[in-house]
Amino acid sequence: MVHAEQQDSQTDGAVDGGRSRTASSIVVHRHALECPGCGAFYRQPPRSQLEVHCTRCHTVLRRTTRSPERDTVALAGTGLALFILVGLMPYITFDMRGRENVGTMLGGALAFWEYGLWVLGLIVMFTTLIAPFLRLVGLLAAVTAPRMRKPPRELYILLRVAQWVRPWSMIEVFMLGMLVAYSRLEALAHVRFGVALYALGGLMLVMAAMDWALDPRDAWNKLEARGLVADPVMMGEARRNAATTRFDERHAISCHGCGLVVEGADHDASCPRCGSFLHRRKPDSVTRTIALVVAAVLLYIPANIYPVMIITSLGDTSPHTIVGGVKELIEADMWPLAALVFFASVMVPVLKVIGLVWMILRVRRPSVEGLKTRTRIFHVIEMIGRWSMIDVFVVTILIALVHMGFIATIQPGPGALAFAGVVIITMLAAETFDPRLMWDAAIDQQRSTRRSRDQAAEEGPDRVRLVSSSGVSVQGGLSR
Ligand SMILES: [Zn+2]
Ligand SMILES: [Zn+2]
Repeated sequence: MVHAEQQDSQTDGAVDGGRSRTASSIVVHRHALECPGCGAFYRQPPRSQLEVHCTRCHTVLRRTTRSPERDTVALAGTGLALFILVGLMPYITFDMRGRENVGTMLGGALAFWEYGLWVLGLIVMFTTLIAPFLRLVGLLAAVTAPRMRKPPRELYILLRVAQWVRPWSMIEVFMLGMLVAYSRLEALAHVRFGVALYALGGLMLVMAAMDWALDPRDAWNKLEARGLVADPVMMGEARRNAATTRFDERHAISCHGCGLVVEGADHDASCPRCGSFLHRRKPDSVTRTIALVVAAVLLYIPANIYPVMIITSLGDTSPHTIVGGVKELIEADMWPLAALVFFASVMVPVLKVIGLVWMILRVRRPSVEGLKTRTRIFHVIEMIGRWSMIDVFVVTILIALVHMGFIATIQPGPGALAFAGVVIITMLAAETFDPRLMWDAAIDQQRSTRRSRDQAAEEGPDRVRLVSSSGVSVQGGLSR
């Protein structure tokens, strides 16, 4: 594990060349990168460093393998082959009194349509089929494109889409949902696993390995080198400008889409490499996060009051809420599963909301203390939110398989849609929140305290100038 070397601001070796920077003179700093956790700028570490962390907040800046391209191609190719099996073959067969029901991935999503819950059907279809497919195809195309003789320029869009769908691709969460659903199905009738279930297990491992192997920054650099970018003319101009412009982190913006560090971009200009809008920080981050957190809290109430599914067994109808489902697992002595469902469905949404509220408060009332811990907690919140989808997938699997009329039928309840809403909205809230704002606010506060102390000591403005805009002492320099 290696820690990155912090970028020197303004003391860079390149000479300004007397160029006056106008609003349209965009500059690209190909050797700079910004930490998404705290906003510190670094010099791109050499490719031999496979794992690099931010020295200030410990966020992972790079984690890859020795040959990321070869590994990504092999893994995405294998993943696509497995995906075909997952999409076409049944993953489970449910046999009850001679009547057989076969469960397929598409059938699960379509089952919601039958009950008029098409929004839920779309959510399940997107997270279990469309997003994994887009990620596999996008990465395979983007990594192989630079080697093609005449690749279409638009291939960069596929890499952008593949990165965007990453948190929404939930193969591993579906697998866990399958485990919980199996424990219920087994009690009802004879259950056999199909080919797709083994393929699904393989796909889960392949996609996890692919996420590890891929170095998005490297993939973007390769596309850029072949001219496969959103605006090749502007990109060329920005690169030429870089030769005569020194790096100034006060004006630098790192693109949210591809990580390119640019300077001199107009307000709301788009990235010349990936076409995303350029913002120094996520726009209206705090206001939007507050709105999403409030919406999630409001939806959390019906999600827990209303049943997520209604089970009919030999004419007896009983509604099942999320907490009720946990109780049943405890009664059936399935403690590990009960603990898992309780944590993922009940605790995770609450912890996410508490965590985000705490972070928003820390932007408004900044404190240097615990910044590193808060940034780490933010990354955990970002990562665990998707696991709450387990219950939605359990309902999907059960309603698709158990429809034997009077004998046994499972229908989705209104709580399922509200619960899926809570999961998606809290995931969006975590995506909208910009952890760098906590650092900005704390550094601003620290700087103003220092400035007033310095003024009191009558040390003059020279002392202030020694502190970089990120508020930390900097070392190293930009190498071109
Ligand atoms: Zn950092
Ligand atoms: Zn970009």
